[in-house]
Amino acid sequence: MQAEIITIGTELLLGQIVDTNAAYLAKELAAIGFNVFRSTTIGDNQDRIANAVRRALNDCDIVITSGGIGPTVDDKTREAVAAATDRELVFDQSLLDDIKTFFEKRGFALGENNPRQAFIPSQAIPVRNPVGTAPGFIVEHENRYVISLPGVPRELYYLMEHTVLPFIHREFGLETVIKMRVLRTAGAGESNIDRLIADLEESDNPTVGLLAYPGAVDIRIAAKAKTVDKAQALLEKMETELRERLG
Ligand code: ATP
Ligand code: MG
Repeated sequence: MQAEIITIGTELLLGQIVDTNAAYLAKELAAIGFNVFRSTTIGDNQDRIANAVRRALNDCDIVITSGGIGPTVDDKTREAVAAATDRELVFDQSLLDDIKTFFEKRGFALGENNPRQAFIPSQAIPVRNPVGTAPGFIVEHENRYVISLPGVPRELYYLMEHTVLPFIHREFGLETVIKMRVLRTAGAGESNIDRLIADLEESDNPTVGLLAYPGAVDIRIAAKAKTVDKAQALLEKMETELRERLG
């Protein structure tokens, strides 16, 4: 099974940000047995994105795009994927409701351009986004899939773990189940944590990874197994060990 990653954003081509989403997606795809056939980076240009998606659909079972689904006019992924798969963009009220709720909870007013984000290619499966405003979507095209996700890494990770990986497992009848859990820490410092659990970070299954934010570090545990129960058991065991070490 082949996959292509398309990361979208002129800032990537200008070298202003490092393409950590491509690295993350490559790892996740490899972990479930997909061969990453190609990884492409494209600027915020609708025709070029559409061409990249067409080419990827020609070669691969799954195409994952990152970025360009925000509310602004330079966010072109929705239009490009619709064009590449011969569809119109259609309005989805439930997505607009999600976006409204997200803004209301934070006390912000909905921007004039936010409703743009509630348009997705016709018959696409919406990927609802509780951790940001840009919903993703999955388009099935001739038994292949284009999966479009936001560029903000935190949102991309969340949607991959909660929606996209389970979807791929179901659609492709994958035998391995991957379960993840994130332990949140605050104030301890990445290097301190690293010192206490360095050997666990070398573990193959479950894997243990650190993600540092200002003042906080997430410890992400991911377990692979043939059944959900077995994966959960691996997670539990690792979580117990981590909690003991970190106190
Ligand atoms: P939104 O507009 O809601 O933020 P979006 O899908 O339009 O979402 P982008 O505008 O493309 O996403 O990117 C938002 C931010 O996410 C960028 O400013 C950048 O910091 C980060 N980002 C985007 N793409 C990548 C990437 N490939 N790797 C790492 N970070 C990225
Ligand atoms: Mg944007």
